[in-house]
Amino acid sequence: MMISVKNLTYTYPGANKETLHGLNFDIAKGEIFGFLGPSGAGKSTTQNILIGLLKGYGGTIRVMDRGVDEWGQDYFEHVGVSFELPNHYLKLTALENLNFFRSLYSGETLAPLEVLDWVGLKDDAHKKVAEYSKGMKMRLNVARSIIHKPKVLFLDEPTSGLDPMNARKIKDLVLELRRRGTTVFVTTHDMMVADELCDRVAFITAGQINVIDAPSVLKKQYGKRIVEVEYLNGTQDALHQEFPLDGLGDNPAFIDLLKSASRLETIHTQETTLENIFIVVTGQELSV
Ligand code: ADP
Ligand code: MG
Repeated sequence: MMISVKNLTYTYPGANKETLHGLNFDIAKGEIFGFLGPSGAGKSTTQNILIGLLKGYGGTIRVMDRGVDEWGQDYFEHVGVSFELPNHYLKLTALENLNFFRSLYSGETLAPLEVLDWVGLKDDAHKKVAEYSKGMKMRLNVARSIIHKPKVLFLDEPTSGLDPMNARKIKDLVLELRRRGTTVFVTTHDMMVADELCDRVAFITAGQINVIDAPSVLKKQYGKRIVEVEYLNGTQDALHQEFPLDGLGDNPAFIDLLKSASRLETIHTQETTLENIFIVVTGQELSV
């Protein structure tokens, strides 16, 4: 296991209630593991504990076979972090920012221009970051987190505020990093990110994990294998009927309906989305 978390609890100093209530999860080498949950669920808190920023938690956390507390500064030679809110040197260009952060690492690093190209910022490499849009700063944030080829990457809402094209770039980049063997912990409130990226996803609400599984397994488990037929039968308003997808070709009621309906409007399978499953499992909406 690259990351192993047992009974993780956390209370912010001075707060009167606990924020994390005993989280358990393991992340394998080369896995993309997602934390999916609404705002305030405890995603950033968990990431900040995993990277050693927040101390005084309960439970045990091991990363790369060592307790998080046992790691020193060398921890950051091996892990990359992208925070929820970008913090760059605004008076420097993107390239200067990357060159600065690159100089802090003792190991081999990637070529800054190549990394900027990956996140779609090559043409803006010489622009001062002060002139960057929020989305560009987010992408620079991700570029910075991978410059030293970390073994483990922590990404807090990496596509938040990005348009679909730039979100795609970030998602493709993360998938490429997995091909290269990187382990990724990613937090998101975007079910598409969880669905497209994550090998396994944990649903988190109010400091608790409700379920952990592969998105495809969850969809199989919670999806209804049903076909819905919308049709007219000499009527003004459309009528609806549902049939099991299994054995559909031998289902006389379905075949009769196809023959007898005066007009077929639509025929749809009822695939479920991760968002629907989230609501069923947690009783909460994602977009809260
Ligand atoms: P998420 O990243 O899932 O949106 P957070 O981890 O940021 O959630 O927050 C989880 C809970 O902890 C929220 O109720 C939030 O208000 C609280 N919280 C976050 N940061 C602090 C802090 N510095 N001090 C006290 N409470 C905090
Ligand atoms: Mg957050």
